[in-house]
This record gives sequence, structure tokens and C-alpha cells, in this order.
Amino acid sequence: MKAIISEKVVEAIKKECTRINSETGGMLVGKEIGNEFIITDFIGPGPNSHHSVSSFSYDPEYELKEYEKIINENDSVELLGWIHKHPGDFDRPSSVDLEFANQVFDNKEWQEWDFDKLLMPIVNLFNDSFKITNYLITKDKRNFEIIPLEIVPESHPKVQALLNKSSRKTANRLDAEIESLKQLGLTTGMEYDEASRLITVTANPGKRISIFHRDIFSYSDFKLEFRLHRTYPVTKPAVFLTIKNRCTPITTESKILMNWSPAHILADIIRFDFPDLVYPIKLFRRKQTWI
Ligand SMILES: [Zn+2]
Repeated sequence: MKAIISEKVVEAIKKECTRINSETGGMLVGKEIGNEFIITDFIGPGPNSHHSVSSFSYDPEYELKEYEKIINENDSVELLGWIHKHPGDFDRPSSVDLEFANQVFDNKEWQEWDFDKLLMPIVNLFNDSFKITNYLITKDKRNFEIIPLEIVPESHPKVQALLNKSSRKTANRLDAEIESLKQLGLTTGMEYDEASRLITVTANPGKRISIFHRDIFSYSDFKLEFRLHRTYPVTKPAVFLTIKNRCTPITTESKILMNWSPAHILADIIRFDFPDLVYPIKLFRRKQTWI
């Protein structure tokens, strides 16, 4: 067996391990395919985790919530195990680590997960070096063995294949989103940024219009950008409004006032928070009657 981990996940682990001096760690999510583990996500220990120099405990509520967010969007990945930091250069699993693995294999609470193996890598930050020793433990053997860990770019085909599977569900939804924006008369676009893993959906009326937004009236070119995290629609999109007058365009993040729920679509945000973008405001009509 071996494991493949994306640079992005390694960076996230490094960040967590350098954040505090004491022990820390988190969940590894991905997929076992053939004789390989492909690791696509790391979930940190959570706000209610406890850390000391030689031990720590996770915030299970936080980890499970984050895990559910990931699998809600990508049901082709699963929990592969836990990674944690050890003090100094101590790079072997402790008796507590073995106890933990035994608990996961045997404890009733975990039985519905039905693990037959667990990845339990150990991180050491020692003399400015960062080292991951990749341990695997199986349900039948119950001892830790080291298996190779290959760090690959996020664009590695095996990582992408898994992440793309995740996006199929999102992609179908986004097609429908784009369609509903078009029905509002908006010009639309969609981009995926590999570095931030954000999907950006743009919408603009395609002409200069007058709108009231947060009590400010202007007659300009407008563009809306919805930045969607991969856990969208569970997490609400961030909305950026660009206003272009004669001078340079100004982009500001706009708070969504509507109560977002996963049942909503982007067009709902426009109807609720930016109605002037699609329904011409009545001010001019009133003016016309005065003339
Ligand atoms: Zn340990």
C-alpha cells in the first residue's frame, strides 16, 4: 500500500502544526482505490480541542460537522484516518495511539463506520524540519507499519479525478443556477480557480442601469460575483458587487441579507438583495410622468 497526498493538504497540516507548540492534528479524508490511499482533505482539530505538550483531544462535534460538509458535496470520499503531531523527533506511535486505533476498530460507537484499516501518520517539527511518517494499521494485524507517502500537486490526475467526482453534483446544480440567472435577463459566466478551489459565477445586466443599493443610488455598469466554496450550497456564497462609473471599477463584498439555506439558488439572492439589477427601478418612470 501507499498514500498520495496533495500539496494543498500538506500545507494545511503544516499550518495547523506550526500554529501551536503543543500536540495537534486532525482528520484525513479521501479514498482508498486499489492499493493506494488518495488524501484530498484535512479537517483541523476544531475550536473545542484540548492541547498539551504530550497529548491532545479533538473537538468531535466540529470534526463531524466539517466531515459531513465534505461528503454532502462529494459522497465518493470517506474518512481515512487521523494525523497528529508528536513532540520533538519522537516519530513512532505511542501506546495511546494504539489504544485509539483499537477503539476505532472495536468500539460500538465506531462500528457503523466499519473501518478495516486506518491511516495514522505522525508529524514531527524538529530543528525547523517538517516530517510526516506515514503509519497504517489494519483491523486484523493491529500493529503499525510505515507505508510510502507521495506528495503531489493538486492538479495530479488521481487527486483531480476524486475532486471532479465531487464536482459532478455541484456542476449539475451550477448549470441550473446559470440557467435561472439567464432567465432573469443577466449575462453570466463561470470560472474555477484551482488555487483557491473557489467557483466564481458572474452575473451582469449587460448595460448601464440605475440601482439603489444600500441607500446609494447610481447609474453605472454593475457586475455581481458569487464566490462559491466547494461546500456550496451548504455554505452560503460570498457576493462581490463591482460598480464601474467613469473611473476605475470598485469591487466590494456585499453582505447577503436574505436568510440563506441550501434550498435557495443564486437567483434568489438577486431577487431579494439586488432587485434593481433585474427589475428597473420605478424612480425614472415616476419622473417621466412629471415631464
Ligand atoms: Zn501519538
